[in-house]
Amino acid sequence: MSKIEADVVVIGAGASGIAAAVAAAEKEASVIVFEKGSTTGGAANMGMGFFAVESKHAKAQMIDLTLDEAFEFFMEYTHWHADARLVRKYMAQSASTIDWIESLGVEFLGVYKYFEKSFPTWHIVKVPGSNKPTERSASVMFKALTDRAAELGVDIKFQHDVKKIITDPSTGRVTGVSAVDADGNKIECECDTIIVAAGGFGNNPAMIKEMTGYTWGKDLYSFRIPGDDGDGVNMMWEAGAVKSPVNVELTYSTPGITDIFKTLSETMRQPNIMVNLEGLRIINEETMQNTTFTGNAISRQTDKIAFTIVTDEIIADYAKKGLDYITFHHNIKTVDKWYSEIEAYKTGGESETAGLSDLHGDDETSQVNFWEADSLEELCELTGIDYKTLQATINEYNGCAGKYDPLFNKHPKYMRAVKGKKFYAAAHRPCGYGTLGGIKTDDNLRVLNKANKPVPGLYSAGFDACNIFGDSYCFLLPGNTMGWALNSGRMAGYNAVDYLDSDDFVE
Ligand SMILES: Cc1cc2nc3c(=O)[nH]c(=O)nc-3n(C[C@H](O)[C@H](O)[C@H](O)COP(=O)(O)OP(=O)(O)OC[C@H]3O[C@@H](n4cnc5c(N)ncnc54)[C@H](O)[C@@H]3O)c2cc1C
Repeated sequence: MSKIEADVVVIGAGASGIAAAVAAAEKEASVIVFEKGSTTGGAANMGMGFFAVESKHAKAQMIDLTLDEAFEFFMEYTHWHADARLVRKYMAQSASTIDWIESLGVEFLGVYKYFEKSFPTWHIVKVPGSNKPTERSASVMFKALTDRAAELGVDIKFQHDVKKIITDPSTGRVTGVSAVDADGNKIECECDTIIVAAGGFGNNPAMIKEMTGYTWGKDLYSFRIPGDDGDGVNMMWEAGAVKSPVNVELTYSTPGITDIFKTLSETMRQPNIMVNLEGLRIINEETMQNTTFTGNAISRQTDKIAFTIVTDEIIADYAKKGLDYITFHHNIKTVDKWYSEIEAYKTGGESETAGLSDLHGDDETSQVNFWEADSLEELCELTGIDYKTLQATINEYNGCAGKYDPLFNKHPKYMRAVKGKKFYAAAHRPCGYGTLGGIKTDDNLRVLNKANKPVPGLYSAGFDACNIFGDSYCFLLPGNTMGWALNSGRMAGYNAVDYLDSDDFVE
């Protein structure tokens, strides 16, 4: 076994870990980062941008959302279940984090909404040489942070899997970590502070089941990012951290279609009728752009499933006028590929627009989640939706076509009659980006024990420490998990070094 030492050890070089490492090294601490995989950036390499308020880009774009307004909105949204002091610090730092990232030579495309009713807070990273929003553009920023870490002397040990946080039994203070390298060699690193940034447990179905109740592959089809196995929260619990509730950063998807057949996927997410297996509407379908709210509504239904239904007449209308909703990141404006993608889906063909499909796992492509039929009755036979109730729901819905929706007050322009010669349905199921929480911190990112006191020297950031959303991720202020990861990492890095320089630290 080899022995090394550092002032600060960071577990995980994802979004929050690499930010924490750079921040701690800027304060002249010696920093060792252990990363299980072979890259930095973690799940955030798949993303495009992150939250900030009152940034110079927001000001230049005349966005008048203030820090106070964003904070108050957020706290009302969470019913003040979130740690107000921590949320305030995160949001107050967010504009300077944009400058911090820009100081590394990273550019931003601008500030965007994620959907019409959200706020413009999503700062999209620019891919050099391109002026278009690009999937995975955030990876540019993680390369820059990694270069900066190297410049500051941070030692990133790739393919090093941390197995245990070592504590002093008499004081509970952290004293080191033990890890294993790719060849199975043991390494022990002595240190005075540890920042755990290991990305939650989105890749651990057993922990997802235990902590959230979802069964991955049956009623949850969330992204499974290699490495995010729950090691961080498990090690912190073992080191004395109190367990806190965990949420999935919930969205919804049509397994086998979302991120694979983009025209089919985007068309079946337009604000057309959405029903459950009982044949009843469950949501004002205008809300479907808020993927978290829709995921919540779907999760309440029998078998956690809901269906949107369109007809050939609705598709013909979209062919003339274009889609109602265009998400700028997917940028599907027309139904030009509707019929060719249906054919490809049915025959197992490849889609030209395949995207992040490989991250959802294999199971979903073996299911059927999109159907076409010559009558509503046949569609019900195929999907299992109750025909009698659906017929009644559609009669009522069609009676309000283009008019006031007495059930959910959907805008008349989206009240398109469900009629035609062909009927299409897509199943929508809960999906997600990862898990939120598991441990509790104070507003300095210090990990708390059962007595609500800090475990001396132990800090956490990112998915592992993300307790700020109450029961549901706040998609209304977009970019909020990567924003949280970068800012909580940055704060944890600074605070860990301040602790070493303070009277609280006793060697
Ligand atoms: C497809 C996709 C798109 C997204 N897009 C956006 C977006 O545009 N905006 C946004 O705000 N959010 C987005 N997110 C969410 C964002 O990526 C996460 O909030 C963020 O990555 C969380 O950071 P983290 O540091 O907690 O975890 P991660 O970034 O996943 O990093 C965790 C790291 O810890 C390492 N690790 C785990 N265990 C150990 C161990 N025992 N020893 C050593 N290393 C270990 C892992 O290998 C990993 O590298 C997206 C997520 C996905 C999946």
